[in-house]
Amino acid sequence: MKKRKALALFSGGLDSMIACRMMAEQGIEVIALHFDVGLTKINEERIEFLHSVAEQAHSKLEIVDIHDQFTKDVLFNPKYGYGKGFNPCVDCHGNMFKQAGDLLEKYDADFLISGEVLGERPMSQNAGALDKVLKLSGYEELIVRPMSAKLLEPSKPELKGWVDREKLLDIQGRQRTRQFELVEKYGFVNFESPGGGCLLTEKFFATKMEDLLKHDDYAKEDAVLLKYGRHFRLPDGAKLVLGRDHDENTIFRSSDFEKYFKIETADGLKGPLSILSKYATKEDSLLATKIILTYSKADKDKEYAIAIGNEKFSNQSFDSKNDVIKFLLG
Ligand code: SF4
Repeated sequence: MKKRKALALFSGGLDSMIACRMMAEQGIEVIALHFDVGLTKINEERIEFLHSVAEQAHSKLEIVDIHDQFTKDVLFNPKYGYGKGFNPCVDCHGNMFKQAGDLLEKYDADFLISGEVLGERPMSQNAGALDKVLKLSGYEELIVRPMSAKLLEPSKPELKGWVDREKLLDIQGRQRTRQFELVEKYGFVNFESPGGGCLLTEKFFATKMEDLLKHDDYAKEDAVLLKYGRHFRLPDGAKLVLGRDHDENTIFRSSDFEKYFKIETADGLKGPLSILSKYATKEDSLLATKIILTYSKADKDKEYAIAIGNEKFSNQSFDSKNDVIKFLLG
């Protein structure tokens, strides 16, 4: 009999690990697709983690960059709205299944799976939401949800016997007791809590995104800014972002920005790498230099020159960080 192959939506969370491992236990080859929507934290450490959890799930990890497509088709116009943050989870899941379905041929795979659990998340995994996800995907018949399959209509892979439905589960709700029993059974040693890693679900991220959309159009380069830094909105409308530590300064320094100036602090002065909208007025630019100096090792009584684009501004820091709180976002 032909060895079946499944493509999995693989967040790296426990449910997706269990779902993949259950398929692998049935002798099904699993490719764990981790979709990068561009706004999640994917650095080297995260990639290493994803490889490790995919390995424990006996699956092969593939990271698929769908940033542009997700931004264009899903992020700003979700049919089923947002969760508590800026997270369009129902549309996002539907879209991931669609993207995965479009990859079936490339990977010579037969069907799709996910770690969705009926009733685990109030907005995106109630019975109605699971149905909406199926319809949005365009691959309704080919989707198996191993964690809750026995509570759902049988899918084609189950009806055809590609997957043994009897070995699938009937988990529902937010209690994770059964998942932890399976952690024991499969000997998982390294896994994360649900929802980890998606900035879209975080309140501070939604605040920054909402602020951005009030003043500007979202562009790809904004993804880096929204993920990192200390954010200020200045009185004439410019955006100022300060790197909070060496790592963030390095990320900003190595990123390309078209809409923003990169600003180094004055020669020899230790401070953040800062980003300022190119449309900043003179007043906002001057204020930006004062804020930058306030977050640097500047001597309060001394004036420093800071270059923004081709212009130079001389300024002193504020007396205290309390003076800049009113411009701070989030
Ligand atoms: S948590 Fe983030 S990545 Fe996951 S479905 Fe929701 S929006 Fe998409």
